[in-house]
Amino acid sequence: HSTDPWREFDSSKVYMADLESALHYLLRVELATHNTLGGEELKTFKSVVTVIAKLYPGRASVQKVMENLLDWLVRLPLESIPYQAILDLVDDKMRISSLSLGAEVRWVGCQGSRPGLRGYPCSLWTLFHMLTVQYDASPKLLAGTGTEGDPAAVLNAMRGYIGTFFGCEQCGRHFEEMAAQSLDQVKTTEDAVIWLWSKHNQVNSRLAGSLSDDPVFPKSPWPSPALCPACHQEKEGVHTWNEEQVLAFLRQHYGAGNLSPRYLP
Ligand code: FAD
Repeated sequence: HSTDPWREFDSSKVYMADLESALHYLLRVELATHNTLGGEELKTFKSVVTVIAKLYPGRASVQKVMENLLDWLVRLPLESIPYQAILDLVDDKMRISSLSLGAEVRWVGCQGSRPGLRGYPCSLWTLFHMLTVQYDASPKLLAGTGTEGDPAAVLNAMRGYIGTFFGCEQCGRHFEEMAAQSLDQVKTTEDAVIWLWSKHNQVNSRLAGSLSDDPVFPKSPWPSPALCPACHQEKEGVHTWNEEQVLAFLRQHYGAGNLSPRYLP
């Protein structure tokens, strides 16, 4: 919102407020464009709810909302579900057990310099990076979900979500192209963390200087040398990444220990 006060933030941190805003937006805004969920859409939605319910590293109360939603989806043998029922469930669970999932967006690390920049897409990247790192740290968390043992479980859920529900259709097509090209090369959960990082950098370089690029947060290869000096190497004047260091950095940056509760409602 344009009247929102600017929130100072530290780009070496990840903010729970951004993650919760992502979930709010996903459940209450993006999903609302579908009257009912059935068939492949329902399957895709379930797999996204599964990885979030099992791997979400933020507030336990928020994870609980997602777990309740998952229980309900799994127990309900319906071919298709009206969106309103999902919304009722999310709202109801929040009221009854005073679980919280804020009813509005509050961007912090994902603030844009103008409305319409950053926000939701930024928070989705952040959420999925966190989920790949969380899964790599504790693969057992997906036990019993039918996806255990699949190193690309989080990426497959993300691929489905981006292709089916993400409002930016062009983004969906681009992401699908990248996934179709190389997702099958992901053999370990470490590969999955690095795959998403590397694809995100491809998107960054494609979008640098484009209309969706926030001039205050210009797109560039990430992490910057300031954020992670050891990630960068130069060989005979040519820049290369030190992937071992990048992986260590991603584990730290997107690890549960780097989550900040600042600005939560
Ligand atoms: P974002 O790119 O959204 O990044 C969010 C945060 O993640 C950054 O602030 C940084 O802290 C961190 N980060 C940055 N790079 C990396 C990395 N390589 N690895 C790990 N963390 C990183 N927009 C289009 O115009 N066209 C598209 O085709 C398009 N495709 C998209 C595909 C997907 C799957 C998603 C989620 C978004 C896509 N977008 C696309 C939106 C675009 O990528 C940005 O999300 C948006 O422009 C906002 O940019 P941002 O500056 O907030 O940084």
